[in-house]
Amino acid sequence: MTDNNIITSAEEHLLHTYNRFQIVLERGEGMYLYDVNGKEYLDLQAGIAVCALGYGNKKYTEALKSQIDKLMHTSNLYYSAPAMEAAEKLTKAAGMDRVFFTNSGTEAIEGLIKTARKYAFTKDGTTDHEIIAMEHSFHGRSMGALSVTGNAHYREAFEPLIGNIKFANYNDLESVKALVTDKTCAILLETVQGEGGIYPADPEFLKGLRALCDEKDILLMFDEIQCGMGRTGDFFAWQGYENADGTMGIRPDCMAVAKAIGNGVPVGAFLMTEKVAQSSMVPGDHGSTYGGNPLVCAAVSATIDIFSEDGILENVKSVAPYFEEKLQGLADKYPEAIKERRGRGFMQGLELKVSVGDVVKKGQSKGLLTISAGTNVLRMVPPLIMSRSDVDKAVAILDEVFSEISEG
Ligand SMILES: *Cc1c(COP(=O)(O)O)cnc(C)c1O
Repeated sequence: MTDNNIITSAEEHLLHTYNRFQIVLERGEGMYLYDVNGKEYLDLQAGIAVCALGYGNKKYTEALKSQIDKLMHTSNLYYSAPAMEAAEKLTKAAGMDRVFFTNSGTEAIEGLIKTARKYAFTKDGTTDHEIIAMEHSFHGRSMGALSVTGNAHYREAFEPLIGNIKFANYNDLESVKALVTDKTCAILLETVQGEGGIYPADPEFLKGLRALCDEKDILLMFDEIQCGMGRTGDFFAWQGYENADGTMGIRPDCMAVAKAIGNGVPVGAFLMTEKVAQSSMVPGDHGSTYGGNPLVCAAVSATIDIFSEDGILENVKSVAPYFEEKLQGLADKYPEAIKERRGRGFMQGLELKVSVGDVVKKGQSKGLLTISAGTNVLRMVPPLIMSRSDVDKAVAILDEVFSEISEG
């Protein structure tokens, strides 16, 4: 089949919820993707921050194949070794005590919302508790996750959503404090905002939120779906923030993860401390048919093993300053096209004064895949195996793109 046939037929049958690029991807190798015509693309989007290990990692694919040969699915009514191993490794990496596996990030957020309400209900026996979320946040597309997503355009047609959600301004502690009442049960935020335009949390903001939550017994909930799993150079982004007492890690009470934790199989999770677990979810409160089945748990387990065996976090820590420096170089060279560089580690954004769609498309024609975030931010969330020479290659292509755009 030619790419045109595939695109035409796909457009006839798939529900039109995406305006897709005219590219049909077929296979991948390391940092590269190939389309059906054999054209090569250096990939700085990783399936939107999913494919942390890049493409075709042998240890990973062998682990999945061997699990497929044994057992793909069973029910959560039984135990399985892959679920036990994945739970042990993920809670350890996340500094949390308990985990529930989901099939997506959105469902992990649903789990956090239910945990927050149940925790508060257990405490005072009343309902109508409130959750504070952030403007310009993104937490997913289900009715619950949409309710806490700070983008009125995504929410409007689907109202009424779940109630008692208030929106504060990100990185503005006073705006959060102004919304706290006796009914506030949780504060939910991305440690680094992704879809909203790559905005890292200020250290003072996170410190202030932690103190506020401790003082009022409010649950601090981090959405680490995009920024977690090594992307910022720590296993989870909050681990790279310093506390008031100088220790590392502004630890939330609960967190949601997904995207890179299974390197491409549909899996997410919500995690919590023992204290929260003891006063919230009990048998019958939550469940999932597929959630944490042997196949996806084998993927989570293999991904975490490969992170330590192959020094994935070390790679991000060592290459990220170079990546930032090179992107900053572009921002300095093309001030009429680039307003600002932002980000942490391998989660970088260039806020543009020119059309981000044009930059993405010109990059594609030159063999570079990037995506947008917000309305005017060029987003780069590459596989975590990216090397300095990959950075050089990507930045050289972006340099050509910005030079063409600047010439008009
Ligand atoms: C992608 C994303 C989600 C939603 O995850 P899905 O797997 O698409 O349901 C939620 N929060 C953040 C921060 C995300 O980046």
